[in-house]
Amino acid sequence: WSRAAKSPGVTPMMAQFFEIKAAYSDCLLFYRMGDFYELFFEDAEQAAAALDITLTKRGKHDGKDVAMAGVPVHAAESYLARLIRKAFRVAVCEQVEDPAEAKKRGAKSVVRREVVRLVTPGTLTEDTLLDARVHNYLAALGRAEGHLALAVVDISTGEFLIAPTLPGRLSAELARFTPSELLLPDNLGDDTAVQDALADWRDILSPLGAARFDSGHGRWRLEELFNVATLDGFASFGRAELSAAGALVDYLEDTQKGKLPRLAPPKRLPPDGAMMIDAATRRSLELTRTQGGDTAGSLLATIDRSVTGAGARLMAKRLSAPLTDPVRINERLDMVQYMLERTSLRQDMRMLLKATPDMERALARLSLGRGGPRDLMAIRLGLDAAHSAREALAASGDGLGALPDDLAAVHDRLGRHHDLAGTLKRALVEEPPLSVRDGGFIAADYDATLDEFRTLRDQSRRLILELEADYQRLTAIASLKIKHNNVLGYHVDVTARHADKLMAPPLNETFIHRQTLANAVRFSTADLSKLAGKISEAGDRALALEQDIFTALTGQVMDTAATISEAALALAELDVGAGNATLAAECGYVRPDVDDSLAFTVRNGRHPVVESALAGTSDSFVANDCQLEENGRLWLLTGPNMAGKSTFLRQNALMAVMAQMGGYVPAAHAHIGVVDRLFSRVGASDDLAHGRSTFMVEMVETAAILNQAGPRSLVILDEIGRGTATYDGLSIAWAAVEHLHNINQSRALFATHYHELTALKETLDALALRSMKVREWKGEVIFLHEVAKGAADRSYGIQVAKLAGLPPRVIARARQVLDHLESQDTGAGAHGPVHDLPLFQDIPARSPEKEDKNPLEQALEDINPDDLSPRDALTVLYKLQDIL
Ligand code: ADP
Repeated sequence: WSRAAKSPGVTPMMAQFFEIKAAYSDCLLFYRMGDFYELFFEDAEQAAAALDITLTKRGKHDGKDVAMAGVPVHAAESYLARLIRKAFRVAVCEQVEDPAEAKKRGAKSVVRREVVRLVTPGTLTEDTLLDARVHNYLAALGRAEGHLALAVVDISTGEFLIAPTLPGRLSAELARFTPSELLLPDNLGDDTAVQDALADWRDILSPLGAARFDSGHGRWRLEELFNVATLDGFASFGRAELSAAGALVDYLEDTQKGKLPRLAPPKRLPPDGAMMIDAATRRSLELTRTQGGDTAGSLLATIDRSVTGAGARLMAKRLSAPLTDPVRINERLDMVQYMLERTSLRQDMRMLLKATPDMERALARLSLGRGGPRDLMAIRLGLDAAHSAREALAASGDGLGALPDDLAAVHDRLGRHHDLAGTLKRALVEEPPLSVRDGGFIAADYDATLDEFRTLRDQSRRLILELEADYQRLTAIASLKIKHNNVLGYHVDVTARHADKLMAPPLNETFIHRQTLANAVRFSTADLSKLAGKISEAGDRALALEQDIFTALTGQVMDTAATISEAALALAELDVGAGNATLAAECGYVRPDVDDSLAFTVRNGRHPVVESALAGTSDSFVANDCQLEENGRLWLLTGPNMAGKSTFLRQNALMAVMAQMGGYVPAAHAHIGVVDRLFSRVGASDDLAHGRSTFMVEMVETAAILNQAGPRSLVILDEIGRGTATYDGLSIAWAAVEHLHNINQSRALFATHYHELTALKETLDALALRSMKVREWKGEVIFLHEVAKGAADRSYGIQVAKLAGLPPRVIARARQVLDHLESQDTGAGAHGPVHDLPLFQDIPARSPEKEDKNPLEQALEDINPDDLSPRDALTVLYKLQDIL
């Protein structure tokens, strides 16, 4: 690009474009020209294809047409959003001087332009580009002295976290945040453990030069950013942590072009503060998204009753990182209980919060100079709400002393901004415009000078009307008008019929001809120009003053940004507390007992998502108990497909997540000793994106579990070994159960269709057998969805296949095969070691004459008399007759 800038025949503007493009070759360059952002060359082609906008051309370069595409500035945000979603990075290049200035330098000089911002997935702040209910994290991975660390920031809210990590935890740690961009040094290639952990995150990696990850530089960066002599006041950070955080801050400065967003002081996450849940487990439990990728139908969507964006983000964050400290968990539960016991407090609070705007995101935009009057308004309304919430809490019955700790802390952080709220209330009009540029957002009576300018401006408007009347009298043309447009400014407008009169003496001394159109002729006058000058001056000064006031108010807001953001967070906590209480009241959830024990006892537990899907249908959810303790720490669950095994497994994993995030649970009673790591492997799915077969995925995930789970972990495994030949699968499942029982010693639920596994009961003391109850009725199975003691008697596979609508021929044939196999069975299968079944060996192949059956014979064969009602039989007879 830089060479192109110097090639002969390049216009000055194109030369400028090439120079800027040279510095941003990995981005699409949005090059500002008047009211458009234009893209050129390949950028234009890529953007035209991605956005479905017209590709045109403009001039030639090197003898070839230059491709061009553009988007209007006023609609740029929606185009940006689409490009970012398609994984482009965009450099926004603005005109940074008035075109008049450029002209002064010479006729040929171009307006100065600079890239003012790089738009990348992790650095968005605009409401239109963000989902209000979801955090948008940017993460950086640092490595030093063999340690790894993650630094994570959400610049749309200012949250800044630093966490030491390990290769084995990295993927789970990332899954917890699901960042939209991950920065990492470009020399990590040699570390295979890290590369493996990053396999799931390939699409979001942004490798940067390793020098930017220097930890000494990182320390200096942070000290400078937070204006402290030492970071020890925050925490004592290791070198890997400083490396990650420093690179992150560096990158922010780079993409925001020197304007750093407001960041909260970095919080160091304790390495074992949250329940570890790896990406596969999150996917299989559908915590925040379903396996299909939708948010609807996930656990979060089912249990989130928050009414604000900030509340929804906090809820998602808690769900993604359940706690492991029973004290903290119980503090959260205390808040839910308090709210649950006070219906009107809860309802008032939710009404109040519903109308509360997103203060955190408004604050972030203001700090980056991207804010507008509506962001100030959001702060004002948010602070008002904070004040009202504080009063409601104080008045909630038993006095402040009776508030549980978390609510007392919330109360403490609210309502400290009375003066600022008052100022903003006086300063802003009720419905301010979007942009500062337009003016008109400062209320009357707030600033005397502004009022004066405005009066002047409005008076001058009256003077225009008076002048118009004067001219009408002077010319005796009643239809004469004073009008305004962007080209001529204020001018006198008469119909063509009257024009001659103004162009002849004596009137032509006053009226200077400017323009003749088909049916109107336009004039200017000296008096009008003078007046117009005054109006525009008053208008300009009013606007400039409004902009100054905006800057001053923004300054006041930023001075207290830290406490405003605390108030915003306190409101979010209230929202989540009130939301969880509402959920508990609506769905009949109970407060779980959470402690340091190894208990896992659930009475009448339900699956929150399946239960809510069944609500409104004729079916109701069947509640089940689960008790994983001393001599039944590992439950082996058998039962036919569709009997409810996976539902039962998942509901118990979800129970642990919900309890440890500090929420009530769908059960009659639950006692849960904190789970440090949760593992789930439920159902097989091909991971085609990464080129791994179902079986390979299953084995990789199972390996992760068997290598990492410990006595405090909760493991749920469903149908391990299904993706391979029967005996391979059975052997793998067999060995996995033994390992889980003897080595991992985790609390575990293991569902299988291999009845042979029940024989393990003989050798493993802490293994308990459970099965899904099924009733057989007239050749059909009925699923009772009840978990009972003991092993399932048979698999009912053929009955289930029949329910699914397999053709009767296939069902009948399958019965034959099964009978055959069972007659060959020596009976050792259920108790003895694996033995070899002669699968399909002795089954006769289809005989040729069967292929030649005529339609009537075929139809007769398809009839299953046992299945026919008298009426069906009649229908069949008619059908047979038709064939004849
Ligand atoms: P499996 O894993 O044994 O094949 P699933 O857990 O997938 O069975 O359950 C199959 C269907 O049965 C579910 O989609 C659900 O609608 C229903 N189901 C499962 N458990 C229950 C229950 N406890 N109460 C009511 N319906 C249930």
